[in-house]
Amino acid sequence: MTQTLSHPVMPTTELQIIADKVIAGQRLSFEDGCHLFATPHEDAVGELANFARKRLVGDTVYFATTLYIHPTNLCELSCPMCSFYAKPGMKKAWFMTPEQIETKVRSHIHQNLTEIHIVGGLWRECNLPYYQEMFTRIKAIDPKLHIKALTPVEYDFLARLHGLTIEEVFKLMISWGLGSLPGGGAEVLVERIRKQVAPQKISSDEYLNIHKIAHQVGLPSNITMLFGHVEDDEDLVTHLCKVRELQDETKGFQTFIPLKYHVENNALGKRKQRLKSKNDKKVFAVSRLMLDNVRNVKVLWNYLGIDVAKELLFFGANDLSSTNIEEQIIIAAGGIQVAMTKERLCQIILECGRTPKEIHSGHCYAEDQKLFNCSLTTS
Ligand code: SF4
Repeated sequence: MTQTLSHPVMPTTELQIIADKVIAGQRLSFEDGCHLFATPHEDAVGELANFARKRLVGDTVYFATTLYIHPTNLCELSCPMCSFYAKPGMKKAWFMTPEQIETKVRSHIHQNLTEIHIVGGLWRECNLPYYQEMFTRIKAIDPKLHIKALTPVEYDFLARLHGLTIEEVFKLMISWGLGSLPGGGAEVLVERIRKQVAPQKISSDEYLNIHKIAHQVGLPSNITMLFGHVEDDEDLVTHLCKVRELQDETKGFQTFIPLKYHVENNALGKRKQRLKSKNDKKVFAVSRLMLDNVRNVKVLWNYLGIDVAKELLFFGANDLSSTNIEEQIIIAAGGIQVAMTKERLCQIILECGRTPKEIHSGHCYAEDQKLFNCSLTTS
């Protein structure tokens, strides 16, 4: 993307060296990432991320009209950072049949849904025949509805449940209508941190390998990073480097999503005094700067508030997520419950001087992604 942009001028020599690399299109090192976190010059880091965002992806801000389906919150695991899971007999537990899910989708279809985002707990009744029936019912309502479903942790569970390989599970799910992976469950891709926040989950390598297999069978995916709990800055930089490394190999990640950890209603949150809060703006800006090969950085306004989300569009983000209809995971963790329309999202993006673009059935995202991947290959 050729644009004339004024080059950012930095307040320190160290930052200017990093800025010169960004301006020259050179990759930042692990040490550069750590320095960007350590510097007190938050606005300078933001200016640099905004420069990188504008040059990489222009002024377009994506959004989608998304219905969330959480088939069940029953889960065999009990991750300390999770506010969502329930155990049998608990008042807050639910389980939805494919028929109930079809009814839910039909009740929202008039809102011009463009995608269905499906994630839930690890539960044996949510098995392959269950997803086959669910996806088939959704596609019968409207074959253009994009199904973005399940985290690598859920795919690992399904593969073990049925004695299949991950690739076999993906191929079956694709034949029933799966379009992409939403990217949850990454937490921080450092074992020392995973042991504290989600000790029963698959390892970092296993998690990334499932994304790799998804990319190899033609499924694009998003990937998250949960920040603001027990991790150090260096752990976040390690996470970013691991994502970047796999992206060099597969080019299958569409979007990177930093998720702010919420302390409400989970075991880890009870250790409040030992948790390390993080600067949201820095996390977004450093993510944008380190991930020179991932096209989109998404801000979930329902995690952070609309005002903060608007600010983050100037710290590297270029995707404002979606209408988030019926989202429950963030609500369980004390997130914001605001009715959001497509019109309001467009208005927010325009107020920021940016251009809204709605993702229809994953298409414009995929087309813009293809152009971006070509520019990486030819640059
Ligand atoms: S994070 Fe996922 S796997 Fe862990 S307890 Fe919550 S729902 Fe279950």
